[in-house]
Amino acid sequence: MPEIGREVLRKSKAEIAFLHGPRGELPTLKEVMEGVRRADVLLPSALLSIPKEVLLGNPNLRGIANFGVGYSNIDMVSATELGIPVTNTPGVLTETTADLAWTLLMATARRIAQAHNYTVSGQWKGPGGKSFMGCDIGPGGSNRPKVLGIIGFGRIGKAVMRRSRGFKMNVRAYDPPMKETIEKTKGVEYRELGDLLTESDFVTLHCPLTEETHHIIGKRELDLMKPTAILINTSRGPVVDEEALVSALRKGKIAGAGLDVYEREPLLSPGLAKLETVVLLPHIGSATEDTRGQMAVVAAKNAIAILSGKRPPNIVNSEVFESPEYHRRLKI
Ligand code: NAP
Repeated sequence: MPEIGREVLRKSKAEIAFLHGPRGELPTLKEVMEGVRRADVLLPSALLSIPKEVLLGNPNLRGIANFGVGYSNIDMVSATELGIPVTNTPGVLTETTADLAWTLLMATARRIAQAHNYTVSGQWKGPGGKSFMGCDIGPGGSNRPKVLGIIGFGRIGKAVMRRSRGFKMNVRAYDPPMKETIEKTKGVEYRELGDLLTESDFVTLHCPLTEETHHIIGKRELDLMKPTAILINTSRGPVVDEEALVSALRKGKIAGAGLDVYEREPLLSPGLAKLETVVLLPHIGSATEDTRGQMAVVAAKNAIAILSGKRPPNIVNSEVFESPEYHRRLKI
């Protein structure tokens, strides 16, 4: 929790208890279960799983202010049923995460991680060495604009699209509820998922993790992609079937993948780290001092609103306000 967010909490006179290991490690489920009993509001990292048993651990819990825009770490069905409001931190991390998606796209296309390792390990002995042939992001020598396929055209998807303009890319997007917006956006064409995968040189994922988007990219979808295409994932790991991805990369069905998120974080699927065609990051999409600080401020303000019984600014399950269970918790 960056200091700037702690400061907001301190000013509210709320009593704050931090639950983490000596080096900032996430607490275990047992520690979370013990902590929740003493808490009016939880402010968890978006990487910390909050299952139903945690929610049941304190009948007086007033709400959860998640530290992140994605909230697939929380059992939302149970939270809503139990009358527990949940908030997130949208907006403040949009540009930073879009920057990281582009960093991964460029690093994977130009094999930056492999070239870096080769240079720093002293393997570069001058002319005649490895040349790390990559693929173009802009139109390249043959002047053929590349196609960028965006899955999930929300805040981050749109910010990724804006960055593509300097590379003269043709942009396709898939996001059924946003079809009209996509069709009205200059330089972007709507595509159904299969067509987007077939046409794109780069496919980048920016949808939330839901039942519908779980394994939205699996073997069938990877088979549709060009053998020269690159997949980028900064959304949530389980939107990609990681085993199918490793197999597709091994067989050369696609050319590369840049990943910030994984199916079973922090574990990587067997064989993934050995591939020469991947760039792998440890879930750092929003990790800049400025952005993490602003996320902390947003999460802290949501937590204070929950404590004061006010409607929090970034509620994600507003139906909870209709629930008698929410009103019971509010009276405590
Ligand atoms: P957002 O504004 O809600 O955008 C997500 C978009 O995806 C929405 O337009 C959503 O439509 C759409 N969508 C939902 N289901 C879809 C489907 N089946 N197929 C295609 N599109 C679908 O969220 P955001 O702020 O851009 O963030 C997107 C995700 O990025 C977050 O959920 C989070 O998991 C991830 N993230 C990761 C990091 C990181 O550190 N790597 C950092 C920030 C965010 P509806 O709104 O109609 O559902």
